[in-house]
Amino acid sequence: MDAGIVQKIFTDHFESYRKSHVVDTRPYYAAESIMSCRIPDQGYHIDGCPNGDYHVLLYNSCKHRSCPQCGSIETELWLERRRGQALFWTPHF
Ligand SMILES: [Zn+2]
Repeated sequence: MDAGIVQKIFTDHFESYRKSHVVDTRPYYAAESIMSCRIPDQGYHIDGCPNGDYHVLLYNSCKHRSCPQCGSIETELWLERRRGQALFWTPHF
């Protein structure tokens, strides 16, 4: 699944959800982070090769652990480490 899909869902629907539901601080902050991840409002940085032959402008990420664009890789790596430590692991689906 494209990580940007989650951002679009939040951007399109979170405001109307928030109007009809009480949203605690932490989930609200997570939603705000996801919606603002890698958009111009976050600012930007330029990555490039040391020779200066290539550079690209990248919008800054939110770095929130719940953001699928930022935290999904780290979450999967963490899960792999925990699975490696478990004596017996069975998924609970
Ligand atoms: Zn993010």
